[in-house]
Amino acid sequence: MRACFLALACLLIAAAAAAQNPALDAKVDQELPSLVSTYKALHAAPELSHHEDKTAAMLAHELRGFGYDVTEHVGKYPKPEWQGHGIVALMKNGAGPTVLVRADMDALPVEEQTGLPYASHVRTKNDAGVDVGVMHACGHDIHVTSLIGTAKLLAAMKDQWHGTLVLIGQPSEETIDGARAMLTDGLYSRIPKPDYALALHDSSELETGKIAYTPGYALASSTSVDVTIRGRGAHGSRPEVSKDPIVLAAEFIMAIQTIVSRENSPFDPAVVTVGSIHGGTKYNIIPDDVHLQLTIRTYKEEVRQHILVSLDRIAKGVALAGGVPEDRAPVVKASETEVTPAMYNDPQLTEREVSALKRGLGADSVVEKPPVMGSEDFGQFGLEGHKIPTFMFMVGAIDTDRIAASQKTGVPLPSLHSSLFWPVPDTTIRTGVKAMTVAVLELMKK
Ligand SMILES: [Zn+2]
Ligand SMILES: [Zn+2]
Repeated sequence: MRACFLALACLLIAAAAAAQNPALDAKVDQELPSLVSTYKALHAAPELSHHEDKTAAMLAHELRGFGYDVTEHVGKYPKPEWQGHGIVALMKNGAGPTVLVRADMDALPVEEQTGLPYASHVRTKNDAGVDVGVMHACGHDIHVTSLIGTAKLLAAMKDQWHGTLVLIGQPSEETIDGARAMLTDGLYSRIPKPDYALALHDSSELETGKIAYTPGYALASSTSVDVTIRGRGAHGSRPEVSKDPIVLAAEFIMAIQTIVSRENSPFDPAVVTVGSIHGGTKYNIIPDDVHLQLTIRTYKEEVRQHILVSLDRIAKGVALAGGVPEDRAPVVKASETEVTPAMYNDPQLTEREVSALKRGLGADSVVEKPPVMGSEDFGQFGLEGHKIPTFMFMVGAIDTDRIAASQKTGVPLPSLHSSLFWPVPDTTIRTGVKAMTVAVLELMKK
């Protein structure tokens, strides 16, 4: 019985190996040295959200060189001083499905501490005029490089696929307004509406060479909320003539903890975090108001709506209980720009792509992972109500030695957005290019 089992296992392993694509491997490996040098140049020259002009110009130049029909400066923001740096590259190859592949291009206001030879030393002024270091601390340089590699391979393999391939260089993912800016600028009237949309993101936990996926809800919706608790200022020694907004804000913060714990179903994940609180100037002054910044994370839209209504109700209730006059009622305002829906991996598309990725990369290299409450604006390309099936997968970026050391010492690996995060360039880009090429071919193959 045991021998039989082993024989069967050997057969399965042989079948899996045979199903992988050595021709594709050779093509990726041929491109790898130039992709790695592109990556290092991108890594050393990161640009903040809304300011990705050089990255976009470089991507446009590369894609044009492979024969894509490229449109630059796609994206319209509510702030006129922000330019849209979105790139749309089209390759029409006869009748067939339209597939969109998106890479995000922006970096973060983080001062790099990795000490790598190609580390960023870029400093700039952010939109508030503050001097900041800039770093690709989320690995969007890996995404742009993987898109370039995928674009080159698919242009060279036109005989193997049909339909319309749409490659997107998306700005401002970190501020979750770049995808919306491109759609507001008429993206889907400029190009055929996609039948499918694909994206990848590097992972700061997964071993390089591996892919991870989550069927269904994978990443949460994110909504930024501003709350102003208004009171009546007074001398710190005379609380009796004040309506102290600091005490009211403290009550409000404690009271909203019951939204998730008491009002929400335990089967619907939700987070209410107060990330910032500011009020007052001095020891002995009761201020007029306190300002709080919150982030709300949910998967379901109705849960998000419920939380927003509850925040408003509780803020007003706390003010009422504190005797705050009506004309000083609190103001609760959900941002209309810093908001993005949950990232939903279409279950059917996910299943289809996971089988293709397992065939292309080997079953051991493709693992399922649980969802997280982080957010992404890629889901917006799927439109409201998940009209266009979307699929985003994670690409491992960390070598096994570092993972083993972290497990041994208990010191966690630097996460995405950390000044110490660094992906292994060659194997991560190789896996990114190969996986995305396999994923596109699955949908467009002849
Ligand atoms: Zn990020
Ligand atoms: Zn990211």
